[in-house]
Amino acid sequence: MRAMRQFLSDIADFFLPRTCHLCGCHLRDSEKTFCIRCIETLPRSLYHLMPLNPMERRFAGIVPFVRATGHFIYSRNSELASAVHDMKYRKFPSVGKRLGEIVGEELNMAGFFSGADSIASVPMHWWKEARRGYNQTDYIAAGISEATGLPVLDVLEASRSHKTQTAMTLEQRQANLAGSFRVKDPSAIEGKGLVIVDDVCTTGATLRTLAAEIATAVPTARLYLLSLAVTV
Ligand SMILES: [Zn+2]
Repeated sequence: MRAMRQFLSDIADFFLPRTCHLCGCHLRDSEKTFCIRCIETLPRSLYHLMPLNPMERRFAGIVPFVRATGHFIYSRNSELASAVHDMKYRKFPSVGKRLGEIVGEELNMAGFFSGADSIASVPMHWWKEARRGYNQTDYIAAGISEATGLPVLDVLEASRSHKTQTAMTLEQRQANLAGSFRVKDPSAIEGKGLVIVDDVCTTGATLRTLAAEIATAVPTARLYLLSLAVTV
């Protein structure tokens, strides 16, 4: 049976070779989306190993949280930037899922999720999601869920659409985001540890606005702020 499965996988590989999304090399059976070498060379922040890390300093005293981290370092024109671009704009959400699995595995080993009960991704307004076809943070959250066993909850929603924020300052972003998010099922997270997942944290405005909204709606929820990548 096993030999048969290997045989079929070899045939599939012959007609549709599996290649690394970043370097294009041929993937081994044990590899998924990226080769081991590309995974190893993605720069990690290792913030989760630092007490009051730079990401936590962005939120300390502003919104309540248990822990915060951004796992990969995001810089322009990097391999990671190209993977994030493909995940967001070129219809490769599977890249987000795979990166989410890696983040989940590495943080889980370090005990980052200790006390967490579930995961929720930063919601996207339905109109934007309909145009893009998917919300990339859902895929990152699914990858983290797969690696940690924590369930993904559909408890948050983007209650109104907002302008694209690329060229805005932190203050402009916060004004732009005010009233954007809503907790649609507060009872599901009362007294629980909730991991909020974002893609790239630049000014922190998105996580800050969302965490503030959750803290107001459900003061007993314990929040873990996690972005796939962070700018330094
Ligand atoms: Zn590669």
